[in-house]
Amino acid sequence: MKNDCLFCAIAAGEIPSSKVYEDEICFAFYDIAPQAPVHFLVIPKEHIGSVAEISGENSSVVAHIFEVIARVARELGLESYRVVSNIGEQAGQSVHHLHFHVLSGRDMTWPPGWSIGQEESRRGTPAALYL
Ligand code: 5GP
Ligand code: ZN
Repeated sequence: MKNDCLFCAIAAGEIPSSKVYEDEICFAFYDIAPQAPVHFLVIPKEHIGSVAEISGENSSVVAHIFEVIARVARELGLESYRVVSNIGEQAGQSVHHLHFHVLSGRDMTWPPGWSIGQEESRRGTPAALYL
């Protein structure tokens, strides 16, 4: 457990959350600011900063998390959903403890939201360059 890590504290039960699922390896809970009718997060109990810190040493945790996502989604009756993990500031990561967002219950666009600066907008840079 990392000091001052919000999600380490949530996984340890020190900060309350609306729990969806828990086992020895991971913890799932509803997002405090849902972006879809169903929006929960699945995190490892072990502190890992983001996908960028996944290696051969800890990747089994990710495999387990995806098993859990599939099982919980089935139990919640989700037929279509999106799994997202943001890595780093530009991608929108705000909590630096690995987490997978599971979103469901509304239409979703692809690609995910992006915005370009006015300059690029005026030059008409094709969206494809930003993917
Ligand atoms: P990120 O922005 O890092 O991809 O995702 C972090 C997510 O954690 C956000 O969707 C945010 O709403 C959620 N979050 C932040 N603080 C809390 C909290 O205290 N409790 C819960 N349940 N979710 C949180
Ligand atoms: Zn942590």
